[in-house]
Amino acid sequence: MAARADSFDLGGLKLSPGEARRLDLDVALGDFDLSDERYATPEAVPVHLDVSRMVGGGYSLRLRFESEIAGPCMRCLEPASPTTVVDSREVDQPGGGEELNSPYVNGDELDLTAWAHDAYSLALPPQVLCRPDCRGLCPECGANLNAEPDHAHEAPPDPRWAKLREIKLE
Ligand SMILES: [Zn+2]
Ligand SMILES: [Zn+2]
Repeated sequence: MAARADSFDLGGLKLSPGEARRLDLDVALGDFDLSDERYATPEAVPVHLDVSRMVGGGYSLRLRFESEIAGPCMRCLEPASPTTVVDSREVDQPGGGEELNSPYVNGDELDLTAWAHDAYSLALPPQVLCRPDCRGLCPECGANLNAEPDHAHEAPPDPRWAKLREIKLE
């Protein structure tokens, strides 16, 4: 069972410059508010964290995991739980300028929960769907088109035909 970590003490690894370590941890990604709906992730998501102590000081980090997100499908409103894969990198080098200053690293302390939450949020597809080809709801009557693939309404009469009919009547 991997250790549950919210923030992680990188200094506790006691890595020498150039040394790296892979850690298996459990992280809580939290909930996500998308399109006015609440989407939930599992309580504990197993993650791989690669930590490298850089020769010039600071850390180079890579975070990898995959997780389901559960909530209503954004097209058909049925329960959806698609899986999203995350592969995120952060570098934090004291005095290394803005690009080398990770917002998730404060000295030797890594805010793993915030990083995992944000990285997951960025990796999510624009729409949470029950399946990639979800057909959604009928715009006319709201029927679920996944359940009724042949669902159709009679097409409204074409105004051009109406004109022709008028001509015939004359
Ligand atoms: Zn759907
Ligand atoms: Zn319909």
